[in-house]
Amino acid sequence: MQEITQEQVERLIHLQQIETESIRIKKIVNSVYEKISERNSRIVNFRKMIDEKEVALQLMKDRYRLFEVEFNERATRIQKSKETLKGVSTHKEYQVLSREIDDNVNQNKKIDDLLIKELEEIEQQERELNERKAELVQLETMLGKEIEEIENESVEEKQQLEIIERKKEEITPLILPKLLAKFMKISNIAGGLAIVPVENGTCKGCHINLPPQKYIELQRGGPLTFCQQCHRIIYYKKPEETNL
Ligand SMILES: [Zn+2]
Repeated sequence: MQEITQEQVERLIHLQQIETESIRIKKIVNSVYEKISERNSRIVNFRKMIDEKEVALQLMKDRYRLFEVEFNERATRIQKSKETLKGVSTHKEYQVLSREIDDNVNQNKKIDDLLIKELEEIEQQERELNERKAELVQLETMLGKEIEEIENESVEEKQQLEIIERKKEEITPLILPKLLAKFMKISNIAGGLAIVPVENGTCKGCHINLPPQKYIELQRGGPLTFCQQCHRIIYYKKPEETNL
């Protein structure tokens, strides 16, 4: 690559600071989104559970109605048979009708027992469903508040991110396109860190020691230099600046 001025390297360092800050804040913002989506999915799952309970309850009610219809039909038949019984002339006819009445009475007794049980179950399920619905309202209120708080917490980060984006837009046109492309390429493969200082002869990107000759050349300035280990762009940083 062509000789790069110190000014260009300074701009890369500045861009790197912006990128690093941007990555840090994006992590926070993403964790906020995760927290919010976790709460939203809790609400969605709770609603789904209620929907399933409603479907199950409806099936129970439908089944109850079918039994009720059968009960009423048998009751009508019993009534009719009793009427007919009054007018029968033969003993055989009487026996047949009586047996039919007995059968229907027995069946209806069973159905009636079943209906009582089913009704109890339906009422139990309805109570439970209403409790769950009340819980959903509470859950929605509680999580809604939490989501609001989480969103408020990240307002500052979102604003910072906007400022950072603007800074990035300002600086990128000032960097040679080829150099910028190189920077972005390294950044993508090296975890967002494309340019790193070398302090006391050590690359701060991968912590390997530079060969002494290379370190001396780096101190003198000159062509763009890359770390032989992590392939990041490196620049010389005075040891006393370490804690700055
Ligand atoms: Zn390195």
